[in-house]
Amino acid sequence: MARTSDLMLLGVRERELTRAVRAGEIVRLRQGVYALPNVPSAFRHAVEHGGVPACAEAARLHGLWVLQGADDHVWMGTAGGPHGGCTAEASPGETPACRVHWDDGAAITGELPPVHNVLLQLSQCESEETFFAAYESALRLSKISPAGIAWLWRHIVVSSRWLLDIAHSDADSGLESIVRLRLHRLGIRVRTQVGVPGVGEVDIVIGDRLLIECDGRENHERETQRHKDLIRDAAAAALGYETLRFDYALIVHDWPRVEAAIVAKVRDGAHLRALSPGIPDRKRRTA
Ligand SMILES: [Zn+2]
Ligand SMILES: [Zn+2]
Repeated sequence: MARTSDLMLLGVRERELTRAVRAGEIVRLRQGVYALPNVPSAFRHAVEHGGVPACAEAARLHGLWVLQGADDHVWMGTAGGPHGGCTAEASPGETPACRVHWDDGAAITGELPPVHNVLLQLSQCESEETFFAAYESALRLSKISPAGIAWLWRHIVVSSRWLLDIAHSDADSGLESIVRLRLHRLGIRVRTQVGVPGVGEVDIVIGDRLLIECDGRENHERETQRHKDLIRDAAAAALGYETLRFDYALIVHDWPRVEAAIVAKVRDGAHLRALSPGIPDRKRRTA
């Protein structure tokens, strides 16, 4: 994507732009903004407003793990021009889904907002869980700098800062982030990414011996992985551990069933019985 003014500086003439648009080599998104024909639809929509993609869609485009969220939010930046509106808003009788964000920073045509802006926007529009999982994925993928984290801390509402406090950079998947956050709310303390001799690295461990595995794999991968998982569960059982294994559908769409299973095990004390030789303290983390 480029502004006409920038193209002119590079020596492109007006009539060349007109010819390229007619030939289908580029598209005119709005007055003064052109793009290649394959520009993502989120950018097309944002340009109609005079901004850039924001929030959940920008988080997806950054490669963060996003549980859910609208894909038509727009960031104008601090110095954003007048809000242009868009064709989605023009359709009669429909509530427009688009929302415009004005948080601090300079929106650059054709570029995504910085990750710290995107996370702030997510915290304003989506659930705590969606924000938390996206934030942990940003930490895991090193997509946010210490300065970005400090910026986010200053700008996020005070009542959400605790989410930054309990976030880890070692969550294997967004599913694991969500499970850990929900267990935290239930007052169940866990350790994450625990190396268990004879079993391997376990996503979440409750107490001494209750292992929680979150399976975020796609269906086609799951078939080939199933046998390995069964071997792993048998090895864990032989050492005195109990394993509860949940997939995306259970965690996201049937949480009461997952919660009932974990709470029943904890109430029964299944996590507390003594083990020999026990889980080592190495890499011990507490949420
Ligand atoms: Zn938003
Ligand atoms: Zn719109």
